[in-house]
Amino acid sequence: MADNINIYFLGTSASTPTKSRNLTSLLINYRGSNYLFDASENVQQQILKTSQSIQKIKSIFITHFHGDHYYGILGLLSSMSLLKREDELNIYVPFGYKNFLENFLKAGGINLSFKINILQIKSNQKIKIDNGVITSVKLDHTVPSYGYCFKVNNKIGKFNKQKAIKLKIPEGPLFSKLQEGKSIKVDGKVIKPSQVMDLSFKKQGKKILYFTDTAVLKKHPKFIESPDVLVHECTFLDEEKEKAKLKKHSSFSEVVSFSKKIKAKELYLVHVSSRYKDLEANLKNKKNISLPEDLFSLEIKDY
Ligand SMILES: [Zn+2]
Ligand SMILES: [Zn+2]
Repeated sequence: MADNINIYFLGTSASTPTKSRNLTSLLINYRGSNYLFDASENVQQQILKTSQSIQKIKSIFITHFHGDHYYGILGLLSSMSLLKREDELNIYVPFGYKNFLENFLKAGGINLSFKINILQIKSNQKIKIDNGVITSVKLDHTVPSYGYCFKVNNKIGKFNKQKAIKLKIPEGPLFSKLQEGKSIKVDGKVIKPSQVMDLSFKKQGKKILYFTDTAVLKKHPKFIESPDVLVHECTFLDEEKEKAKLKKHSSFSEVVSFSKKIKAKELYLVHVSSRYKDLEANLKNKKNISLPEDLFSLEIKDY
């Protein structure tokens, strides 16, 4: 049975909030866990307005250390602690920023009720999650910045439990291995996945990209192609293309071309500059491109 992936656009503004837009961050809920991408100012109150809980956040992924993407982490961790969180929390940061974040938290003077693991990431690093993987993608910004590719594992076929039991395979981890497409050994005998799987039931798991802040990538890794959902920054309109280049941000038509280049099914623009109120005009008659408002949410099936 398919599970839901729920995506919440917690904030969509760049640099400073506006009356209607908070700073950019995104929450993905899948199989009972929350994955938070960026922890901007006011992030905890935005999560409170969704049906999700801050205590179910398993991992936080900070794209980069510009204030609009991490100032909210202190308050968020503090609330988790006041609510007596016990579960460990992983915080992923660009390589070289572990001390920076540690000092920031220390200066905030919070005593946490739970353990945090600050993990430094590099390019194309894979982080395993329940039935999927989140991979970091090096972006092109004025400071080290990473986008993330959230991918549900592909299904190689349909598992036939009856066949597995007949072959005297003990229920448990060996079942999972076969479902992942790996051969196993039982009593010295090799059993191939094709012996217990109906391989005509192949299914692609969904793919979601969160890319901010960045100039559009000129080169990209193959694994990011054909995403079901591309969430991309669009700080500037085309009139300020030069400024976008200088500040390593993206302008509207560049993002649209990039989205086509990587064959994204749906494009969602975030990190929009507070000075631009007429981006919507650019979206008229454009298919599969949206400018979501804060707290817009999306529910898709994982397969
Ligand atoms: Zn930013
Ligand atoms: Zn930035």
